[in-house]
Amino acid sequence: METIQCSGCPSDINANDMAKQSSYGGEILITDNLENKIRFMCSRLPDNEWSGVLFYKVDEKTSIFDKNIKIKAIDMIVMDIGSATFTEYEMTPEVSGYMVDNDLLDCKIGLIHSHDKMNAFFSGTDENTLKQIGNNTIHFVSLVVNDAGKYVARITSKINHETIGVESIVRETFDGKSSEKKFPVKSFVSDVVWDDLEIKIEKPFDSLDKRIDELKRAAENNRVSNMFNAGYAGYVAPDYRQDYSGVDYPSLFKDYNQTQQASHIDQSDTKPQEYINNDDDDEGGWLDDFMTKN
Ligand SMILES: [Zn+2]
Repeated sequence: METIQCSGCPSDINANDMAKQSSYGGEILITDNLENKIRFMCSRLPDNEWSGVLFYKVDEKTSIFDKNIKIKAIDMIVMDIGSATFTEYEMTPEVSGYMVDNDLLDCKIGLIHSHDKMNAFFSGTDENTLKQIGNNTIHFVSLVVNDAGKYVARITSKINHETIGVESIVRETFDGKSSEKKFPVKSFVSDVVWDDLEIKIEKPFDSLDKRIDELKRAAENNRVSNMFNAGYAGYVAPDYRQDYSGVDYPSLFKDYNQTQQASHIDQSDTKPQEYINNDDDDEGGWLDDFMTKN
């Protein structure tokens, strides 16, 4: 570990200590797909460390500088079973083939490894790996998991510390005489630091859960639309005031607008607005009255 000093630093700030002082640099979301694979691997190999390539995406609106980086860990390919570490980190044809087959070409790659029955933490060896790989890339993401389902993750950043100035050498002699020689000086120190990432695990079946909500909203949407369209479709209910006298129209419109915004399902063919526009037989214009009153 090299020591960094500059006029802006109090003194002797160790790059590692800087990283330790910082809180989370952002979060990493473990998708349901990846979580299931990690749980499966830990249950199949409860006494072995295993390691592999982690595939992830970064929300481009977030940044490590703002300490709000959002990373979505999507998948992994296991590369090694049994050894304590996975330091040989390279893009083998196997990895690129897996990326092609699984539609992962737009993903970035990091490292995942298991501590099996031990705690999930960054050991000395793991920190060396962070420094090694982190030194050769802009950011390097590493995720440590264990059998108990405790995870820790870090993202590295490179620090380039450059000092440019003038060195003065003064030589004195008898009678107060002196000579000064000046030399340009330039120093460059590069180091790797890291931020911890807060672990977020996607709720199991989250996508199904969202789908159920969506379908429920769509069903409610249709119920409201059908009330408007019941007569229109078959021209069997000419007197809308009589049929729907007890219905709270303002709240129906409110509900419709809310569900329309929340739903991705195209309801364009059942819009009540179309009914309003197409209805030339609007007796007495109650809907117009309603719209102006409300
Ligand atoms: Zn480790």
